Amino acid sequence: MSFFNSIGRSMTRAPRAPKRSPTPTSATFSPTESTSSNHNTPTPSSPVVPAPAKPLYLCSPFVEAALVKGNFKTIVMLPKYVDIMEWVAVNVYDFYTNLNEFYGVLSECCTQQSCPTMSAGQTLNFTWINQDRKSVNLPAPTYIDYVMSWLQNLLDDESVFPTKSGQDFAPSFPATVKHVYRQLLRVFAHLYHAHYHQILHLRSEPHFNSLFAHFLAFGREYELLEMKDVKGSSSSPVGIGALWERWRDMGILEA
Ligand SMILES: [Zn+2]
Repeated sequence: MSFFNSIGRSMTRAPRAPKRSPTPTSATFSPTESTSSNHNTPTPSSPVVPAPAKPLYLCSPFVEAALVKGNFKTIVMLPKYVDIMEWVAVNVYDFYTNLNEFYGVLSECCTQQSCPTMSAGQTLNFTWINQDRKSVNLPAPTYIDYVMSWLQNLLDDESVFPTKSGQDFAPSFPATVKHVYRQLLRVFAHLYHAHYHQILHLRSEPHFNSLFAHFLAFGREYELLEMKDVKGSSSSPVGIGALWERWRDMGILEA
């Protein structure tokens, strides 16, 4: 039985009332920020200089924590005799399902109070394009609910994700999946930036890192992922851009 099955799925779309006092968000993760006592938290050399602290997800041993050893490229290769569209569809479905499970567990910490914007870096907030094509700031839980509901509807749409034999994928499928990938990346980016300490409290960092590394490796292999979305701009870098580089240097991602 998986960790998440034992916790129970929490996927309600109802407005989320804060179940506990808002957890302080961490624009800067201090290395001393509380983590499970089982972890070897690095001791800062200078305890009175809190910023700009290195995010915990870039610190040892968390950055190395994974369920899979070696390069993730090996697990994303197209199996023999499998249609590439089918392979992409089933993997996207799995990434969505797993990320949604994680978010369900973390959602009580991701509230309008704790996360008034969809933050993903010290100077980066993702905005949502509304029906009037205007870019608007949304609280992170609202943004993520929009993404997850939109994607659930897409996955349920037989014209986009056909499940019956004889039905073909639409020519627009690759473009749709790129769009999906970009939004899922933003959810990962927010969770790493704002909720990694809570992931550590759950001792889920090997699971979460593995899921994200798998997502990145798959996205790169099938050209679903734009590096500019992973890294952001020089003035507003995405927090996880540094994580991608670190994992690449460690040989987990592409050489
Ligand atoms: Zn949040």
